[in-house]
Amino acid sequence: MSFLDIKGQDRPIQILKEYIKHSRLTGSYLFAGEDGIGKKSVAKTLAKALNCESSTLDSCDKCASCLKIEKGQHPDIHIIDGSGSSGGHLEHTQDIAAQDNDSIKIEYIRQLQKEINLRPYEARRKVFIIDNAHCLTADAGNALLKTLEEPPAGSLIILITSKPALLFKTIISRCKIIKFYPLERQELEEALKKDFHLDDSLSHYLAYFCEGRIGRALKLKDTDILNQRNKVIEAFIPQGRASCDRGVTENRNNVRAYLNILAAWFRDMYLIKIGAPQRELINLDRKNELLKLVSRYTFVDLNEAFNSISSSLLYLERNVNTRLLLSNLKSSLKIEA
Ligand SMILES: [Zn+2]
Repeated sequence: MSFLDIKGQDRPIQILKEYIKHSRLTGSYLFAGEDGIGKKSVAKTLAKALNCESSTLDSCDKCASCLKIEKGQHPDIHIIDGSGSSGGHLEHTQDIAAQDNDSIKIEYIRQLQKEINLRPYEARRKVFIIDNAHCLTADAGNALLKTLEEPPAGSLIILITSKPALLFKTIISRCKIIKFYPLERQELEEALKKDFHLDDSLSHYLAYFCEGRIGRALKLKDTDILNQRNKVIEAFIPQGRASCDRGVTENRNNVRAYLNILAAWFRDMYLIKIGAPQRELINLDRKNELLKLVSRYTFVDLNEAFNSISSSLLYLERNVNTRLLLSNLKSSLKIEA
């Protein structure tokens, strides 16, 4: 992936290119912004651009260096990921550290410090990417401070986080901060149609359901998301016929996805009630049904629905039995009425 392939992050990319052009890309950086909007792609592409054999401001994606970085096999490019399986990251290119219970421990930072002081094997610039940097333990964070302040010449440290508020101030103050924002939803909808050839319904649903976060939308685009959505809605609307497939609902990640789908459905109902433009609906392809159903719910009902769904999401984190959780949710949403 080159900078040209990354959608919606033109501004941070432009800033980084300016830094490279004027040889000012020094020290440590913090890429901050929501999950799934391209921070890690930009960081990896930056590592490629800094080491590309045929291009200076982007990755050529063809030379040996670019290919090795893409495959996670470059000896001088290191990625530490602080997210465990619950972090929702599918990609795990990590050659320094293994993650442990969503934390980055001090031994990984010591390893980084050893590596960063060695001469590069083949790179022009060594790059260390710490993804989910908010998972640094206090010890690890403290140990990292000095290195962040003055990384050895020829090396670059990039911290990535979706939760900057959880990072120690002492870490933040030692980094240059690059902020990342999601795409406008309409912009993402257009990109999904134009660049990924998705049809209108799917593009709209993904762009609005994922709130402009392209990474999420791309992960979902090859799943059967619209059908899954239909099944969930069928199981949870008054007089709906289906029930959630037991095998599927025992998986906590699926249940989390179900709850988000439901929340989106009730959010749409709320938008219709307050007279928002129909384009804003996530489930635009099912707007006729929403319009029909909306009269069955008062604002109070909708509020209660939101509350039930958010407490279900909380209970899910506390390992409550998923079948029980969904059946309680069903009765609190008064589906039988
Ligand atoms: Zn290259």
